[in-house]
Amino acid sequence: MDELKPDQVDPSEDSSRPREPMVVIEGVNKHFGDLHVLRDINLTVGKGEVVVILGPSGSGKSTLCRAINRLETVESGTIAVDGNPLPEEGKPLAQLRADVGMVFQSFNLFAHKTIRDNVTLGPIKVRKKSKDEANALADRLLERVGVAEQAEKFPAQLSGGQQQRVAIARSLAMGPKVMLFDEPTSALDPEMVNEVLDVMVGLAKEGMTMIVVTHEMGFARKAADRVVFMADGQVVEVATPDEFFTNPRSDRAKDFLGKIL
Ligand code: ADP
Ligand code: MG
Repeated sequence: MDELKPDQVDPSEDSSRPREPMVVIEGVNKHFGDLHVLRDINLTVGKGEVVVILGPSGSGKSTLCRAINRLETVESGTIAVDGNPLPEEGKPLAQLRADVGMVFQSFNLFAHKTIRDNVTLGPIKVRKKSKDEANALADRLLERVGVAEQAEKFPAQLSGGQQQRVAIARSLAMGPKVMLFDEPTSALDPEMVNEVLDVMVGLAKEGMTMIVVTHEMGFARKAADRVVFMADGQVVEVATPDEFFTNPRSDRAKDFLGKIL
């Protein structure tokens, strides 16, 4: 695919026009031993686009997300975020991790720090904000995800849904260019799933670029611009949610949807 130059894109154009690319994945391959876990992956995610990755367990969804954040290296191919190829190490890598927010199934908050301090740590250490600035930012973000009253508490005092919303606030505090979500609601009790999805829908509406691995088909229908269906390490289908759910093209996708819907 030809790379789109920023000056060719008018953001006021309708959404059927290609967007300026934010994440560009080209010809990416990776093995774990004999297992070919990512097979020639090509995917471009545009600025402000919400891409939902679906697929059976073991299809390589998490590995792909981790590769975008360079938590995994790849053997061949390239990944670029906002025009920059992924750095090897050092300061540029810390910068990349700040630009690419990641929210996992397990919330991974620092247990011995307050909720507010969980959110201010990155901005102070990596973004070099003052303590006052970072606190103000944290309080704004905690308000936005609906847990402002919990700022002085420790993670264990919060519900799973609240902790995951704090994890989202913590990522947002870095001012990321793109947010990756890897099954962010899979570890939650059912009654807490929607409070997290609602925050994510809000982010999507505000124009955040998002790559979301989830089994929540309601979210995919509501928030995704495109659905990417993966199986056995390959991107099998890319479609709008409407196309994908009403008329999946591949047998694999039909089989997958048959099992979950
Ligand atoms: P998904 O997120 O779609 O369930 P993953 O990306 O987690 O899939 O895993 C893809 C495949 O790679 C699975 O078969 C998994 O067992 C394997 N795998 C994942 N991480 C590792 C690892 N660190 N070492 C070896 N195999 C792994
Ligand atoms: Mg996974």
